[in-house]
Amino acid sequence: MSRLVMLGPPGAGKGTQAKRLSASMGIPQVSTGDMLRAAKKAGTEMGKRAEKYMSAGELVPDEVVVGIVKDRLTDADCAGGFILDGFPRTVPQAQALDDAGVKLDVVVNVNVASELLVERVTGRLSCGGCGAMYHKRYNAPAVADVCDSCGSELYVRRDDTEEVFGSRLAAYEKMTAPLASFYADKGLLKEIDGVGSLDEVQARLVKAIS
Ligand SMILES: [Zn+2]
Repeated sequence: MSRLVMLGPPGAGKGTQAKRLSASMGIPQVSTGDMLRAAKKAGTEMGKRAEKYMSAGELVPDEVVVGIVKDRLTDADCAGGFILDGFPRTVPQAQALDDAGVKLDVVVNVNVASELLVERVTGRLSCGGCGAMYHKRYNAPAVADVCDSCGSELYVRRDDTEEVFGSRLAAYEKMTAPLASFYADKGLLKEIDGVGSLDEVQARLVKAIS
């Protein structure tokens, strides 16, 4: 049984690792964005409550998100475990999850130095034509700012600008340190180094949870 939470800063590749782990272990990767959309579509009570906030452009309160997460984790495909990705994000959310009776086996914190994250993310170039991704330094197109595949002009997504990414990273750092301590106090926290190839990081992740 692996009931797992993945923590890590934006740009650390935690979503990609969660997806690979989900495939290799045969347990679902559960992300809050997907769950909110599904609950809304299914018209569950929690889904309807969430929709009220979302359509008003407000943040969905923790209590409602936790209700949706809890509902999702009782689905049959979660019986052998799950990977929670992107939730909880704050100590009150983690506490609410705990209070709701959701049991966890391990919380993995994927560590990547901030300077490296900034370099990785702010160097990204996206193709508006075919969706291909490049990186100024690690995966540059043959002709500057032009897509190799379709010839469209490449651009920097808003989320990948230094300004937007920098503030997301700062917000993450402010709230995640207490979250890691929260789980460390419960004896659930495992730290892994998130720098390396996909396979190297995956191997560390598998070792941390086994
Ligand atoms: Zn393209």
